[in-house]
Amino acid sequence: MKKFDLHIHTTCSKNRIWGPDAISTPRQVVKAAIRKGLDGVAVTDHDTVKGGLLASKIARRLDKNFLVIPGIEIKCRDGDIIGLGVESNPRGRMGKLSAIEAVEMLRDMGALVVAPHPFGWGGVGKHLETAGFDAIEGFNANQLKCVNTRAKIAAYELELPMVAGSDAHYQVNVGNGVVTIDCDEDTVDSALTAIRAGRVSIYREKRTRNGLLVFTFRMGTFLRTILGKYPLCDEY
Ligand SMILES: [Zn+2]
Repeated sequence: MKKFDLHIHTTCSKNRIWGPDAISTPRQVVKAAIRKGLDGVAVTDHDTVKGGLLASKIARRLDKNFLVIPGIEIKCRDGDIIGLGVESNPRGRMGKLSAIEAVEMLRDMGALVVAPHPFGWGGVGKHLETAGFDAIEGFNANQLKCVNTRAKIAAYELELPMVAGSDAHYQVNVGNGVVTIDCDEDTVDSALTAIRAGRVSIYREKRTRNGLLVFTFRMGTFLRTILGKYPLCDEY
């Protein structure tokens, strides 16, 4: 059984309103996850796979047994959708796509498509039945308990695999949401195949308590970016 946090953001992640979205670089995320005893992570930055690809490269150098699943979190017309196992950025304007179209596009790119925090802010809860997701995020460390409970019930009812992630924007919170995956090999394909087959279960649910602090830090990154002093993604 391998332990994975399947929803993490790095400095490559961008927020449409205030720009820089997360505080920790891909390197800091990988190091934190290794330190916390995880076997792997999925990096799911907003609108870019860059953080995931960088983290994957760094992990290969730091610890050969540590696996990074490159991913992306896109915002379509109906809410946020995660694609796991994506290595290139989707083309076109994601905001115009419906949930059904966005799921189809990510699947065409070979992704395992997850509905993150479906009943929280930016969730695609209303479209869970119709959009054809591969899995539902049953625990997101940034969400209220009732929001996660609704997601779990939906996963049971729709008989979809349930995944979990910290949705960390700061490395301290990496590992707050963890699943175990029963995969045969240490490869992205093997991990995704196991999730699709339902060989995944939620292992750790620790709600993030430092949300306000992290939000303040994120505003700090915004200010530093305006002043041109923030080490963005490239300086990982
Ligand atoms: Zn997220």
